[in-house]
Amino acid sequence: MKSKVFIALGSNIGNLEENLNTALKKLAEFSKVQKVSSFYKTKPQGFLEQADFLNGVCLITTDLEPQELLKKLKEIEKEMGRKKTFKDGPRIIDLDIIYYDNIVLNTPTLTIPHPRAHMRMFVMKGLVEIAPDFPHPILHKTTQEIIENNIAK
Ligand code: AMP
Repeated sequence: MKSKVFIALGSNIGNLEENLNTALKKLAEFSKVQKVSSFYKTKPQGFLEQADFLNGVCLITTDLEPQELLKKLKEIEKEMGRKKTFKDGPRIIDLDIIYYDNIVLNTPTLTIPHPRAHMRMFVMKGLVEIAPDFPHPILHKTTQEIIENNIAK
């Protein structure tokens, strides 16, 4: 059985739309991309002195285990020229695993659900388009409820 995984995409260097589309193409090389949200501009959070981001969320189905998938996402980031900068700094592409089925995982390199996704409106905004009723595996709230309860800012 293939797993359902929600991935958040973000970019704020270069041609932002092209970067998100390139990442989606690369995801499709090893998984089936089932749904893609619209892309929307967002203000940077954390480090504010940088360009606006373009963000989106997609749903893929895959046979890969969570750690194998993380490795693939890091490979895509590297192939697309992402350099190590600093926390919340500018990036060509950022790929985060939001949900992986309804699993809860806590390892030094991978936390699922993503620990900050439910607090980030730029993630929930895309997620509500493609998965309004998907329940957060720890909060047991749907995307719609997370937004209505003002948990995401
Ligand atoms: P970032 O700066 O957003 O690319 O994330 C840095 C590190 O977060 C990655 O190298 C991962 O090892 C780790 N990480 C922990 N949980 C997750 C997750 N759910 N999705 C993606 N990266 C994660």
